[in-house]
This record gives sequence, C-alpha cells and structure tokens, in this order.
Amino acid sequence: KLSKRLQTIADRVTPGSRTADIGSDHALLPVYLVQSGRAPSAIAGELNTGPYQAASKAAASAGLSAVISVRQGDGLSVLQPGEADTVTIAGMGGSLMTDILEAGRLAGKLEGVRELVLQPNVGEEFVRRWLVKHGWTLTDETVLEEDGRFYEVLRAVLSPTASIENAALYEPAFLNKPETESALWANWLYRMGPHLLRNPSPVLHQKWELEIGKLERIVAQMAGSDTPDARAKEAEFRMEIAQIQEVLACTP
Ligand code: SAM
Repeated sequence: KLSKRLQTIADRVTPGSRTADIGSDHALLPVYLVQSGRAPSAIAGELNTGPYQAASKAAASAGLSAVISVRQGDGLSVLQPGEADTVTIAGMGGSLMTDILEAGRLAGKLEGVRELVLQPNVGEEFVRRWLVKHGWTLTDETVLEEDGRFYEVLRAVLSPTASIENAALYEPAFLNKPETESALWANWLYRMGPHLLRNPSPVLHQKWELEIGKLERIVAQMAGSDTPDARAKEAEFRMEIAQIQEVLACTP
C-alpha cells in the first residue's frame, strides 16, 4: 500500500499515461502505477547509484522489468522526446525540481509531455512560477498531512491558452478580492497556491500555522541579539508572520 502522499500523486496521473517518475528512489510510484493498470508503462529515473539499484530491484521483483524502464541519470536527461505523456517528480525541494524541469525543457526532454504531477517538499512558489512561465496551466492542487508533515501535490497540463488561464489564477479576483489588494495577493497566490486559497481546507490552515510557529521561534531567538542585521531580519520575519496571519484571516 502506498503512503497517502504517493497515493495522492498517483491519483492525479491521467489513466493511460506513459509516466516518467524522476528521482524515483525505490520506484514505488511507477510500480504502483503499472500494477494498478493506471499506466501502461513507466520510466523510473534516478541520479544516484543506491536508489537506482533499489529501483531496478523493485521493478524486477514485481515482475515488471519489461514495462518499467529504470534509468540512471540527472533529471529529465534519461528521457527521449515523445517517450512519456506524464512526468512526476516528488519528494525534493521546489528549487531543485524547477532546475530539473528547466534543464529538461532546454534539452527538449519535455516534448510530448502533456501532464506534470509535482510534489515539492518546500519552495512550492518556484514551481508555480516556472509553470506559469512555460505555458503549463495549474489544474489542481492538494495539501495533505502525513506523519506530522505537510505536502502539496500540484498537477499541471500543457495548454495553448495557459497564459490566459494562468493570468486568471494569479489575480486577486480569483479569490474574490479587490484589484487594489493585488500587491498582497499576487505574492501569496504563488506561495500558498491559487486553488488551495480558493478552496481552503483545515489542512492548509494547519500547514501555515505550523510555519508561523517556526517563524515565531526564530524571532524569539533573535530577540537577544542587538546587531542592526539581526534587528532588520527580525523585522522581516515579523512582517512575514503578520502577512501570513492576514492571509489566513481572509481565507475562510
Ligand atoms: N520520488 C520519491 C518519493 O517521493 O518518495 C523519492 C524521493 S527522494 C527524497 C529524492 C530522490 O531524488 C532521491 O532518491 C535522489 O537520489 C533523487 N534525485 C536527486 N536529485 C536528482 C536528479 N537531479 N535527478 C534524478 N534524481 C535525483
């Protein structure tokens, strides 16, 4: 049985998609996708030798070596154009994920890919900004909690009208907020997610309350130090806390 996090990712993959899972580790996701019949075939990409061997072993012991191709390499370099309909990347920071997507895009590795299912551990805003910049429409977002940690799962599709769809997503009007508040909302739409903010769940509130708690602890530790640098940083963190609180307060 998959973890709740991996199951949520698997559920976002359109049935019938040949799926490439990049940074696959033990290949849990591709094995599940093929075994459940959701994907006809899969590619598991891994940079590091240990996880690459673990993925090969997992595919073999599931009897799926013929339909799961396990490949060692950096990011999307393991793909040939046209080989995959869907790319999944999970369990790494949003900034590394964006680097992988961008390097792959420049090398033509996203040719033929129509769907991305991404689960950044942190730095989700980098991923949202990359998607907007490169013609991917964010169709849905989920936030979930598992073992005390919060995870976001983002699904995007390649769309010829992405610029129009994305423009609407990151406008305050998407949340029924006035245009005059666009400075506040633009930033937070990218950080917290337009769909998540529009249909806020208790889990979204919990995730950001936890973030506020972390920031408050940092501020408390800084209170002892008197250098101008520390003062400036402290003010910055306090501002951040106030803004998150403001956003949460406006979010049902
Ligand atoms: N995707 C799995 C999951 O969500 O459970 C595994 C996540 S694991 C924390 C991250 C994996 O990404 C590691 O196995 C690591 O070796 C791999 N990785 C890191 N950088 C990579 C890159 N540039 N290309 C391919 N794999 C990479």
